[in-house]
Amino acid sequence: MTSKMRKLIEDATKSAAFRGHKLGKWISHDRNTAETACMKCGKWIQVESNPAPNGIDIGGPAVALNCMDNSQLKGGGL
Ligand SMILES: [Zn+2]
Repeated sequence: MTSKMRKLIEDATKSAAFRGHKLGKWISHDRNTAETACMKCGKWIQVESNPAPNGIDIGGPAVALNCMDNSQLKGGGL
């Protein structure tokens, strides 16, 4: 994993934590992207170290929305 990816993951984790999320383990599909989801509400978050010109490096509902510890979603997937 590149240092840029590590930094993005660190920033993304902080952003998600600010919204109350508790992220699970990050999964990297290739050297430029990684994703995980909140263990409480299931909202996902993704980082992209080499985004398209109009793309975003950190995205997903977990950075846009606050965590809702909804019991209906407990144990839910991504
Ligand atoms: Zn959450």
